[in-house]
Amino acid sequence: MRHASGTSSPYRNHQLVVSVVILLDAFAFGLSIGPCLNEVELWGLAAAFVFVLLALVATVLSTVCINPIDVGMSRDQLANVNQTKNPIYCFQCKFYMRPKSKHCWNCNMCIAGFDHHCLWVNHCIGTRNYGYFFATTFWLLCSLALSWAP
Ligand SMILES: [Zn+2]
Ligand SMILES: [Zn+2]
Repeated sequence: MRHASGTSSPYRNHQLVVSVVILLDAFAFGLSIGPCLNEVELWGLAAAFVFVLLALVATVLSTVCINPIDVGMSRDQLANVNQTKNPIYCFQCKFYMRPKSKHCWNCNMCIAGFDHHCLWVNHCIGTRNYGYFFATTFWLLCSLALSWAP
């Protein structure tokens, strides 16, 4: 069975850990800044944290909802591939995969521009969602840094 999205089953415990960490992060920030919100200068910090949290959720959802699948190559495309690099046939997907693709045994499909299978989002990271994955790590670091700011 193909695992086309990080939001589909089978799920992994790592996903639960990430969700709990993000929620705890938001909770800890709320607890630490909540009692001090009568100081107007802290409102900017609170607004920045809410913005970063929303950006983080948006990039995580984009990362896990984009299917980084390699759809294989047609005969014409196969002929255009540099012959010094022999195209690799995937016996699971039953097609010739594109250069830099790799079959992921967790997702059970070939991934275009395979980077890695991320256990934390339970999804493969490839060419199509690499930008969103990178943004996710950026916003996650920002949210952790901001939650320690107060
Ligand atoms: Zn494959
Ligand atoms: Zn995978």
